[in-house]
Amino acid sequence: MRCPCNSGDTLEGCCGRFLDAPADTAFPPTAEALMRSRYTAFATGDTAYLLHTWHPDTRPASLELDPGQQWYRLDILDTVRGGPWDNDGGVSFEAHFRRRGARDSLRENSRFVRIGRQWLYVEPLKNS
Ligand SMILES: [Zn+2]
Repeated sequence: MRCPCNSGDTLEGCCGRFLDAPADTAFPPTAEALMRSRYTAFATGDTAYLLHTWHPDTRPASLELDPGQQWYRLDILDTVRGGPWDNDGGVSFEAHFRRRGARDSLRENSRFVRIGRQWLYVEPLKNS
């Protein structure tokens, strides 16, 4: 199975190794890799992974995904910093979905910070 994040890799060779890893054993090395793995978590309904990779300051107490919303394509539009040696980064993306037969997409410029080895999602920046 190909990874839902559209990297072209298999799920196991891409986001799957982060989503399926026991807690705190495998971390995406860059903000973009975390963004991709979180998109894959949305696409596969992995709310535990989404909460686990959310910064404690902005993380919701719980998360419910709309089962009628099917994510089918991710486009990474731009990245700012977010490399293995950066402490923060931004990723602009467009995530495409279908809901009740209609196609739509979400565009966001997300902010990430790195704490130790772990990149965390913080919040959306103002729409670019
Ligand atoms: Zn992936």
